[in-house]
Amino acid sequence: MPVKIDPKLHKEKKPPWIRVRLPNNPVFWDTKGLIDDLKLVTVCEEAHCPNRWECWGQGTATFMIAGERCTRACGFCAVDTRRPMPLEADEPDRVAEAVQRMKLNHVVITAVARDDLPDGGACHFANTIYRVREVNPECVIEVLVPDFIGRDDSLWIVMEAAPAIFNHNLETVERLTPVVRSQAEYWRSLQVLRSAKEMARQMGQRCATKSGIMLGLGETEEEVIKAMDDLRDHDVTVLTMGQYLRPSPKHLPVVEYITPEVFDRLKEIAQEKGFRHVASGPLVRSSYHAADFKPELDLEA
Ligand code: SF4
Repeated sequence: MPVKIDPKLHKEKKPPWIRVRLPNNPVFWDTKGLIDDLKLVTVCEEAHCPNRWECWGQGTATFMIAGERCTRACGFCAVDTRRPMPLEADEPDRVAEAVQRMKLNHVVITAVARDDLPDGGACHFANTIYRVREVNPECVIEVLVPDFIGRDDSLWIVMEAAPAIFNHNLETVERLTPVVRSQAEYWRSLQVLRSAKEMARQMGQRCATKSGIMLGLGETEEEVIKAMDDLRDHDVTVLTMGQYLRPSPKHLPVVEYITPEVFDRLKEIAQEKGFRHVASGPLVRSSYHAADFKPELDLEA
């Protein structure tokens, strides 16, 4: 029986703990100016992230490479689904320049799914990592990647570039995956995470693996806990959990606004399960305060 989320369940009124802070400092505008100047795309804007005012105001952003158009149409995601444009060969240079000019000591690089490309965009990812490392060898490089349709050869290309943190989001629990991420598979995503860690070990590199789950799509707490177990079984040590917010009426409805207390409880449960770093709260996103995790301090070999 296919899972469906009833749009009538949508909770229109946001609770008081979902607050978006408006820009109130010049750093926000400096960040915006630099991103516009370098013609870069950020997931902060494309995904309508509620933390943009805060993160950009602190001089950080998450770069989204390989274009603004995604080949997939996930029910939660605000990124445009259309036939993608060709890759821009100078984009890795522009990301590297942004890292340099923003003086980032931790950068998060993500991308749209590029199922139209033979390597899923893996070489472009790797080139961006290499260029960032060239301009700032000290910068901790975190990648938030698509599943590359489970292709190990694409994953290998990214892992060879040696990101310090490999993030791939599970996004939701197993039961809801077909409606939330229609072209993805729950177990395939878990396998991607496990394979990335194994490849890093084979290459003699140190890499932390990280994943994220959105709450409020109708999942039960037991299902979230099961997802935590599955992630730990696949050697994932960093977890983020945040409230799903509906980007537009075309997207999946919010079934529930999870209270901060529940997020706190889930954080404790995750820590008991052995996650080394857990961020859990209504406005947590996978790249929110990413540098605070400092997983680079205790990376596993
Ligand atoms: S949480 Fe991530 S996506 Fe959102 S504004 Fe901050 S850096 Fe950008």
